Amino acid sequence: MPLVTTTEMFKKAYDGGYAVGAFNVNNMEIVQGITEAAREQHAPLILQVSKGARAYANHTYLVKLVEAAVIECPDIPIALHLDHGPDFETCKSCIDGGFTSVMIDASSKPFAENIALTRRVVEYAHDHGVVVEAELGSLAGVEDEVNVSAEDSSYTRPEEVEEFVSKTGCDSLAIAIGTSHGAYKFTAAQCTRNEQGVLVPPPLRFDILEEVSRRLPGFPIVLHGSSSVPQEYVRMINANGGRMPDAVGIPEEQLRKAATLSVCKINIDSDLRLAMTGSIRQYFAEHPDHFDPRQYLTPARANIKAIVTHKLIDVLGCAGKA
Ligand SMILES: [Zn+2]
Repeated sequence: MPLVTTTEMFKKAYDGGYAVGAFNVNNMEIVQGITEAAREQHAPLILQVSKGARAYANHTYLVKLVEAAVIECPDIPIALHLDHGPDFETCKSCIDGGFTSVMIDASSKPFAENIALTRRVVEYAHDHGVVVEAELGSLAGVEDEVNVSAEDSSYTRPEEVEEFVSKTGCDSLAIAIGTSHGAYKFTAAQCTRNEQGVLVPPPLRFDILEEVSRRLPGFPIVLHGSSSVPQEYVRMINANGGRMPDAVGIPEEQLRKAATLSVCKINIDSDLRLAMTGSIRQYFAEHPDHFDPRQYLTPARANIKAIVTHKLIDVLGCAGKA
């Protein structure tokens, strides 16, 4: 099947009590690792591209890599999504350039400006058969060119969501309930420590999610910044010359719970970066004489496939749902 929008995926995910994984892609090995996992697990899939990824790999290369994945995975629905579109022009460029879904992130602007810009993108996108994700509230953390300090972050205000969705016509809504971008989602001061000395972050605000869902029945909700920062990968990196002290993410049980509620799309990027970097560091430590990129990218790609397989089955619950 050709690239699809997320409309049908989200309807099935909402009704089925699971979420679709949205994984960021930047190069061929990442696209292959993710899509091989989704094909084997027969899972619907969102491949997403950030502004930073377009700057790194070039729009055309990324679209063609994803189109190749669609040919290789004929039995699963795949959507191509712009992650954190910063302005109308970037969204338009992706809508015109083969994407089936875009996010306009005007969450840092005042409410009325967020509505106006989102509305403008929605009108253009819907005229071209493309769906739009918008955002209310803002997440802390760093992701490519999005950088919000903990003080400037704010939870989504449920009392705003009905007006926002009805005035913009957006197709899905990203909300802030305590997830965060990057591999250092919380400072030590925001966390407690378990017996192993590993940071335990504050729980997600399920009360906000439930109130949003009550006000927007049947409407798909999106969670950004939802990597769990598996400590096995942090240890693999640190044991092989890396230095990532106190990297911490969102516990997988909390994401699993969100997926059973109104959350239909969960964004995971940092965990794939950690899996890839950990395996490359380990490979170089074990084979200091090797210099063929295929040698160290083969286990890196396999590790991406392994973590995505785990997410599809154990966190998102979307295995077998394609
Ligand atoms: Zn994000």
